[in-house]
Amino acid sequence: MKKIDKKIIIAIDGGPGVGKSSVSDIIARDLGIVHIDTGAMFRGLSYYFIKNNIELTEENVIDNLPKINVVLKYDNNVTSVILNGEDITPYIRKEEVSKAASFVSKIKEVRKKLLDLQREMAKNQSVILDGQDIGTVVFPDADFKFFFTADIEKRAKKRTEDLIKKGENVTYESVKKALEQRELENKTRKEAPIKKADDAIEFDTTKYEKEQTAKIILDMILERIDKA
Ligand code: C5P
Repeated sequence: MKKIDKKIIIAIDGGPGVGKSSVSDIIARDLGIVHIDTGAMFRGLSYYFIKNNIELTEENVIDNLPKINVVLKYDNNVTSVILNGEDITPYIRKEEVSKAASFVSKIKEVRKKLLDLQREMAKNQSVILDGQDIGTVVFPDADFKFFFTADIEKRAKKRTEDLIKKGENVTYESVKKALEQRELENKTRKEAPIKKADDAIEFDTTKYEKEQTAKIILDMILERIDKA
């Protein structure tokens, strides 16, 4: 583990399935800092509606917001998502949750609630956050900003394998279509769409395993810290 002396904020943004979250996990572990998986927060919030059988409409989402409490819990480098006291981690990667998260993430009130929470979590500690609007909206002054991209074929293949391993009945074609649809929704939403911050370093993860990407990114971070 590398020890860093000052409080830092690292932002990793990008579209769905580019490897932001798994790479952030490795970097967080190597630096001994907290990984805030903001996608997991949107997923956790949206799962409330699936669990309680509430139709996903903008009005229902806004009405229910005060009743929803999403917390990320950390134990030995493993992140759990707690919704109103219940550990819902095993359910949040399902395809229906991806779709629901994409819907709720368009709503201004939802973004505000999670943005406040993300800023609060980063107040007194070094963190790496992965998401879609970290470098542009949540932490425009982050110390390090990266924007990940990857070929859709690799993203769809990986996601299909992951979902099949979890017992979901999906095909490569259905997953690819859903990913493309979600990315389009995320890029074209009015509130905080996916966008590379002007000062973010763009990085294409297609050719690399997550450990290789993490090492390249970590080396860039450490080199800049050493020079400062
Ligand atoms: O990264 P992940 O696939 O877990 O994100 C799930 C969904 O949460 C995204 O498709 C997007 O709709 C939403 N999201 C967001 N802003 C973030 C992170 C995720 O709108 N910072």
